[in-house]
Amino acid sequence: MNSANIKAVEELLSVPQRIVIIPHKNPDGDAIGSTLALWHYLKNRGHEAVIVSPNDYPKFLKWMPGNEHILNFETKNSQALAAMQEATLIFTLDFNHFGRTGQLEPILEASNARFIMIDHHQAPSNYAEVTYSDVEMSSTCEMVYNFIEFLGDTSTITPEMANCIYTGIMTDTGSFKFSSTTSRTHQVVANLIDKGAKNTEIHNSIYDTNSPSRLHLLGCALKNMVILEEYRTAYITLSQEELDTYNYKKGDTEGFVNYGLTLEGIRFAVIFIENKEEGIIKISFRSEGDFSVNQFARKHFNGGGHDNAAGGRSDVSIEETAKYFVSLLEDYKENLNA
Ligand code: 5GP
Ligand code: MN
Repeated sequence: MNSANIKAVEELLSVPQRIVIIPHKNPDGDAIGSTLALWHYLKNRGHEAVIVSPNDYPKFLKWMPGNEHILNFETKNSQALAAMQEATLIFTLDFNHFGRTGQLEPILEASNARFIMIDHHQAPSNYAEVTYSDVEMSSTCEMVYNFIEFLGDTSTITPEMANCIYTGIMTDTGSFKFSSTTSRTHQVVANLIDKGAKNTEIHNSIYDTNSPSRLHLLGCALKNMVILEEYRTAYITLSQEELDTYNYKKGDTEGFVNYGLTLEGIRFAVIFIENKEEGIIKISFRSEGDFSVNQFARKHFNGGGHDNAAGGRSDVSIEETAKYFVSLLEDYKENLNA
């Protein structure tokens, strides 16, 4: 954040505000961790603040301190709507355009509140008075730590905030292994542990709370994996019927896509997940090295994200989607084998 932006934020926060904080739809660890950490910070500074999530999120994120105060727009609709309509200041976290908030999009479009964006996705929209956007950042959580540091307030980071920030950095870096993980990321994480982040407990809460049915669903996904060696690609499909068979709960498929990349020589991994209720196939793309799944998702599947992790969707059947996907690969053969 440049000095003009820091000054603008200081001015905005120098008077009591009615604040709403918004993560993207289907929020992940980074979205929930960053919104909660910021929520604690702003409340502790004396502002009114609420988090409105566009929809529900996985159970393994719900242990985070302050979670019970998050308003799910789908289940606490009137309360969430009132908060958004009365807001004087709206923070949008971990997404780059209103479209990523699903049904909140028209409300955000119509809002007269002032906006602050904190995000690490490519191609940020230009709706905010203060845009703190940095695609080099590991996570929005690392940026929230920086945001608090820019305001000279790291001494006010509580153990609750430290736990939330640690969680988002951990989940968005694949437990500190993705190339977005820098020495600075580790320095921030070290400071967070000093401030009370319980690192071992956080890892257990996120990764070691599987249900047997989730592991069985993983078994099904791995059995369905198709390996296309000539394209250094592996993809998985999961139909609605398979999800139902294994008693699918939100978040159960989190991380499945990464298994493709654990195969030697595979650089591009994809998962297609049928969602009958929404009538779409939700797609996750992951890559290793220079192949940009962000560009691939943008160009072919109405999506986007980061260079090595992106998402998208398709409106045709899961079989047709997979077939179409495979037909695209010939054009990327050189790129994938470079
Ligand atoms: P995931 O595959 O875990 O859902 O998402 C990977 C990354 O891509 C995340 O940063 C996520 O925010 C982004 N992403 C996922 N789905 C979409 C989408 O439909 N559109 C865009 N623009 N980004 C997405
Ligand atoms: Mn993120």
